[in-house]
Amino acid sequence: MEKPDLSLVSPLYAVPDIGKKRAEKLEQAGYRTVLDLLYCFPFRYEDRRATPSIRQLVPGTAAGFVARVRDIRKKNIRNLRVPVIEADLEDGSGEIRAVWFGQEYLLKTLPPKSMAFFFGKPEISSYDGLLSLRSPVVEKMDEEKKGQKSFHVNRIVPVYHESNGLTSSFFRKTIGLILTSLWGNTFEPLPHSVFASNEIPGWFPAIVGIHFPQTLPVQGDPDSLLLPEYPPRKRFVFEELFFLEFLMGYKKREIRMSARERVRVESGDERAMFTGGLPFKMTAAQERACDEIASDMGRPSPMNRLLLGDVGSGKTVVAAWGAYLSFRSGMQSALMAPTEILAQQHYVSLKALLEPHGIRTSLLTQSVRKSEKRALMEAVHRGDVDLVVGTHALIQDALVFSCLGYIVVDEQHKFGVEQRKNLIQKGENPDVLVMTATPIPRSLALSYFGDLDLSVLDERPPGRLPVRTEIVPKSRSEHFWDDNIAPVFGRGEQIFVVYPLIEESGEENLKDATTMYGVLSRKWPSARIGLLTGKMAWEEKASVMEDFRSGKIHLLVSTTVVEVGVDVPGATVMVVENAERFGLAQLHQLRGRIGRGSLPGTCYLIPGPDASRESTGRLEILERTEDGFLVAEEDLRLRGPGEFIGTRQSGLPMFQVANLVRDVGILLLAREQASIFLEPTSESLLAHSWEWTTLMNFIQNRYPGVQEWLMIR
Ligand code: ADP
Ligand code: MG
Repeated sequence: MEKPDLSLVSPLYAVPDIGKKRAEKLEQAGYRTVLDLLYCFPFRYEDRRATPSIRQLVPGTAAGFVARVRDIRKKNIRNLRVPVIEADLEDGSGEIRAVWFGQEYLLKTLPPKSMAFFFGKPEISSYDGLLSLRSPVVEKMDEEKKGQKSFHVNRIVPVYHESNGLTSSFFRKTIGLILTSLWGNTFEPLPHSVFASNEIPGWFPAIVGIHFPQTLPVQGDPDSLLLPEYPPRKRFVFEELFFLEFLMGYKKREIRMSARERVRVESGDERAMFTGGLPFKMTAAQERACDEIASDMGRPSPMNRLLLGDVGSGKTVVAAWGAYLSFRSGMQSALMAPTEILAQQHYVSLKALLEPHGIRTSLLTQSVRKSEKRALMEAVHRGDVDLVVGTHALIQDALVFSCLGYIVVDEQHKFGVEQRKNLIQKGENPDVLVMTATPIPRSLALSYFGDLDLSVLDERPPGRLPVRTEIVPKSRSEHFWDDNIAPVFGRGEQIFVVYPLIEESGEENLKDATTMYGVLSRKWPSARIGLLTGKMAWEEKASVMEDFRSGKIHLLVSTTVVEVGVDVPGATVMVVENAERFGLAQLHQLRGRIGRGSLPGTCYLIPGPDASRESTGRLEILERTEDGFLVAEEDLRLRGPGEFIGTRQSGLPMFQVANLVRDVGILLLAREQASIFLEPTSESLLAHSWEWTTLMNFIQNRYPGVQEWLMIR
C-alpha cells in the first residue's frame, strides 16, 4: 500500500483523505497541522468489539450493528408534516427496517448498497410485525479495502465532538489513517529524564492508545478510558501539567536572573521601627510575610510575590512594610487598586501607617482634579512623592516616576495583562507584590501561579468576630424581612443587601438592586436606605459609601461593587438575594464585608425561586465553614480554574485532559520533574540543550500565546 509522506508538522490539506475543503473547515476549528489533529482527543468511547448481527438483536435492547442498505425511500404520510425516510437494512443474517422523520439528506448519504453502523433500540412494529428501528444513530462507513481493519467496528472506537459539520466518523477515520502512515514514529516532546522514574508511555504509543485503545482498564466500562488510570491518558495529563510547571519554573528563573542595582537597607532594625509605630501587634502570619518580603527585597533580583489572604487578614500592613523598605532604600512605590473606593480606602490606611515615617503618600485616580493632577504628577516625577496610591489612572503615560522600585497590585485578577505590564514598565525591574483576597487552592497556587513566590496570611487578626452564614429556605422567605431584618434596625446595626443585577433585566425571578431599593424604601419609609451600583458616578458612589460608613445610611442596597475593600464597622448583617447566581469564592468575599467591627455578623443567602436544588446545595459549604481555602477548593471543583486565574495568566493553555482537583498527585510529580529539568546536573547537560529546544518548540507550537506570556511579569 502506498503511504502518504506525512510528518507531524504537515498541513492538513496534505493529508490525502482530507482535501482542501475539509482542511479549511478544520482550520476554522483550530486544527492546522497533523499534530493539531492528533491532539483532538475523543470525548468518549464505544466498545464495538463484538457487534451483534441483525439476527442477534433483541427487541427492546439498544444495540449497535453494521448493515448494508438494501433500499431507501421517502414516504409522505398524511397528517405528518415531515416526510418519513424508510430503509431496509440487511447483513446476511437478517433484515431490519429503519425509520427517520424529516431527515431527507439520508437519501443521499445512505444510497442503496452503502454500509453504515446503526445504533438504536429495535422494536417489533405493531403495524406489520416487522423488526424496526426508530430514528437510529447512523454512522456512515466508507467501503473498507479488503483485509483492512475498519476504524469503525470490531474494536473499541473513539467518539469525537462533531465540529464545523465534520462528523465523529470523519475524525475517526482521518486520525486512523494518519496514525497508520506515521506508524513507528519516535517523536517525544518530553525530556528523557521524566521517564526514568515514572511509568508513562512514550508519545506515539500514548497517542495511539488515546485514539484507538486495545483494552478497557475496567471491564465493561468504556468511560474508564477517560481516567488517568489508563496509562495513555495519564501520559497526557502528566504532559500538560509538566508543560505548565516548566513554563512557570522557566519564568521564575528568568526573573531571578534579571538582576538590578539597588541600595539595600538592613531590615532588622527597620522592622522594629516599623512595627513600633503600628496600632496593633502583627499576627505571626503577617510577621512571616514581612520576613519573606524583606528577604526578597534584599536580593539583587526583583521580587515577584503573591500575597494571599482572606478578607480581613490584614494584607494592607504587609504591603505597607514593602513600601516602607522601598522608601528606606531611596525608591518610590505605587499601589494600584481596581476601584476608586478601594484606592481611597487604601490611601487613608497607608497614609496613616506610613506618614509618621516621613513617607509622602498621594492619591491618584480619575477623580482628582486636573490642576491637582498636574501638580501631583510633577511631584512624582521630581521624586517628591514616595508612594502613589491609585486606580488604573496610575498607568497613564503622563505619569513618570523618578525611581519606582516597588509595586503593589491589589486584587490582581481585576486587571488585564497590559495594565500590569504598563505599570511594571514604569520602574526598572521593580519588586512586585500582587495581592488577592480570593483564597487560591493549593493546586492552583502550584500550577497557574507557580511563577510567583507565595506568602499566605492564614491567620485572622485577633478580635475579628465570626460571621454566621445561613441559607434561607423557601418556606421562610415570605416572612424573612420582618423576622430577620426589621429587628436589626432596632439594634442600630447596619445591613448590606446584595443583588446580582443593577437594573431590571426582564428575566423573571431575578432581582435587581434598583427595583429592590424602591421596594425596601417603601417597606421601611422611616429607615435610611441607600443604593450603590457600579453604574453610578464615582462622586455619588463615594458619598453613599461615606454615608454608610458613618452610619447615616442604615441599609445599603447594592451590587457586587461592595465585594472588594469597603470597611464598615457597624455593618453586621448581609443579605444576598439570588445567591445561586454568585460563585462561592465571591460570596465568601462578600460576607467578609460584615462583622468587621465589635459585633458578630450574620450573612443570609436567599436562593431565587428558580434555583435548582443542586445550585442551592452548593451554597451549603458556606454555612459549614468560614475557611476561605475550603470554599475555594470547592469552587475550583465545581467551576474549574477560570474564575481564579482571571487575566493574569492569559495566553496560557487551559487544560484539555488534566483536572487540577483530581490530578493533584500527577501535578506534584510534574512539578518535581520540571524542576529537575530546569536545573540539570552536569551529566544530564549533554542531552539537555536538544531536549530543551524540542520542548520549547513543541510548547510554543501547541500554545501560540505562550511566547507573549513569557515576556510579561
Ligand atoms: P485585608 O486583608 O482584607 O486587606 P486589611 O489590611 O484591610 O485586611 O485589615 C483589616 C482590618 O484589620 C484593618 O482595620 C486593620 O487595621 C486591622 N488589622 C490588620 N492587622 C491586624 C492585627 N495584626 N491586629 C489587629 N488588627 C489588625
Ligand atoms: Mg484589603
